[in-house]
Amino acid sequence: RTPAPVRPAEIVVDLAAIRANARLLRATSGVQLIAVVKADGYGHGLVEAARAAQQGGAEWIAAATLDEALALRAAGIDGRLLCWLTAPGADYAAAADADLDVTAYSVAELDAIAAAVGTRAEPVRIQLKVDTGLSRGGAPRTEWPDLFARARAGEQEGTWRVTGVWSHLACADEPDHPANDAQEQAYRDALELAARHGLDPEIRHLANSAAALLRPSARFDAVRCGIAVYGLDPAPGHTHDVGLVPAMTVRAPLAMVKELAPGDAVSYGHRWTADRPTTVGLVPLGYGDGIPRHASVHATPGTAAQVAVDGKRRPIRGRVCMDQFMVDLGGDRPPVGTEVIVFGPPSLGGPTAQDWAEACGTINYEIVTRIGGRMARRYV
Ligand code: PLP
Repeated sequence: RTPAPVRPAEIVVDLAAIRANARLLRATSGVQLIAVVKADGYGHGLVEAARAAQQGGAEWIAAATLDEALALRAAGIDGRLLCWLTAPGADYAAAADADLDVTAYSVAELDAIAAAVGTRAEPVRIQLKVDTGLSRGGAPRTEWPDLFARARAGEQEGTWRVTGVWSHLACADEPDHPANDAQEQAYRDALELAARHGLDPEIRHLANSAAALLRPSARFDAVRCGIAVYGLDPAPGHTHDVGLVPAMTVRAPLAMVKELAPGDAVSYGHRWTADRPTTVGLVPLGYGDGIPRHASVHATPGTAAQVAVDGKRRPIRGRVCMDQFMVDLGGDRPPVGTEVIVFGPPSLGGPTAQDWAEACGTINYEIVTRIGGRMARRYV
């Protein structure tokens, strides 16, 4: 009998989960959904994630860079599309041609946009980002009056229409952090000042996934959700189960099984030594594919990341290498080709991206966004 072909390591992306998560976020927030698909859709695929989110009811798609937004348009993603990581020197004419909503942070940037887009039959669409306490992108409070005045003048000249005034929270995943109240108040101040300058934006948005789920007062006209669209918890320990479904599964075939005797040490640096006869299995993925080396190096004993082999949890032993890592099979000898679930939705019974994040001392965002390398993505 010919054995069934062994499927190579792959990332399986459940587009139905993305659609369902978008639908759920849309329904529970009761406002418009801006689905964030930057960084290749948090590792799920830029265009595929955008399309699935739109099918789930997202009114807006958001990317960080202009290149991402232009790539989305080129791939046929229509509808409202926002980006925010531009700076003077960016190709604002291309942004206008692609009918994007670009974000401006400063008077200098508004001047650059005006110079680049010239006079068009239709005003271009811009959104203004105000810094309310993250101290990252966004106009600082001292510059709000000049920013709003310049923005209004451009509207009156017919150069652009200000479609949004928005900001971003620093501590939304810590709902009791005092910065949340302070930022929300500062944002309300910015909206009031914008109104006093005659601006009447179509959407006001402040909340990321954590705030969308945990802070109804921050929802305004739209929530700007990334991680929750992919079914991962933005604030573990604070959110209750709202029914989000993780969309990503990483799986691989077991590539080898080997016997170890007591005293045999595993992988670079011999950081793990067998203390009894056992078996280990080789998983053909490594940090070259986005598997964090921290999964074992920084794990305290007993907390290394795990995979599921044939439904059983198996811990990583020794260092994760560039292309491979070893797991403890505890004396079992599953056949080569046995499915290894690295992580996926809880319904698969194996570890989740959140489990990996905890083992690696990071956040689930980083686990899914870094995954890739040589692995093919398969959409289901
Ligand atoms: N808005 C901005 C400006 C962001 O940078 C991000 C992502 O970090 C998001 C929204 C989405 O955040 P989250 O994935 O936590 O929903």
